[in-house]
Amino acid sequence: MRTPIIAGNWKMYKTPREAVSFVEELKKAVADVQGVEILVCPTFLALLPLSVILEGSNIRLGAQNMFWAAEGAYTGEVSAEMLRESGCTYVILGHSERRQYFGETDANVAKKARAALDNGLVPIICVGESIDERKTGRTATVIERQVHGSLAGLAADEVTGLVVAYEPVWAIGTGLTASPGDAQEVNALIRRLIGELYDRGTAASVRIQYGGSVKPGNAAELMSQPDIDGALVGGASLKTADFAGIIKATVETLNPPQ
Ligand code: PEP
Repeated sequence: MRTPIIAGNWKMYKTPREAVSFVEELKKAVADVQGVEILVCPTFLALLPLSVILEGSNIRLGAQNMFWAAEGAYTGEVSAEMLRESGCTYVILGHSERRQYFGETDANVAKKARAALDNGLVPIICVGESIDERKTGRTATVIERQVHGSLAGLAADEVTGLVVAYEPVWAIGTGLTASPGDAQEVNALIRRLIGELYDRGTAASVRIQYGGSVKPGNAAELMSQPDIDGALVGGASLKTADFAGIIKATVETLNPPQ
């Protein structure tokens, strides 16, 4: 049984002060939620203060990126150990915005995933096709290349515990959402690819999120798909009511009212 994970990727929104007041509110709004893992990924600068506020709560902390080296002359970068010490349990890797604006490649993602796992962080590895790739029928090829490249060098027992996020690039921040059927099809493909690379047990254990304009109104239908194990949420994670709405829709999908 895979526990769904609803993660908020705040991108470069919310100052540390705004992040603090947001999680104070969110903590109350989701205090009674069980059976769904909740994660917020704020700016690096808010990690430490948030780790204090979230101690003992049902909300976990993650980062939006990291560098693969343990330490060194890498101006502006942050290591896995630094994230761990700042209270992170998760780290998003290979988000399409990192790939688009910062030249992140599958090989970089694999190196970061190695370093994250070595430091006790759970990587959330993002994959997804562009609109052009989808329109020209290349979705499966792109996803296969990204899954193979991003997981390179990882062992089955490491992949079992990590999270993959299927995020079609054309659905991120656009208001366009993949239909539940299309999202399910790609999530099932990712699981099948992991089964081929590793084994059936690993494929059955790995959690695969969907991300791309998830909102309270479309969450239930997406989350009810058999291979969708939660959501990576951008815009809607910035408002308490919307983020809590997505979390509650996921809980209700798991335990529909009798
Ligand atoms: C994201 O940033 O990963 C994302 C899915 O954004 P949005 O929910 O705004 O589309």
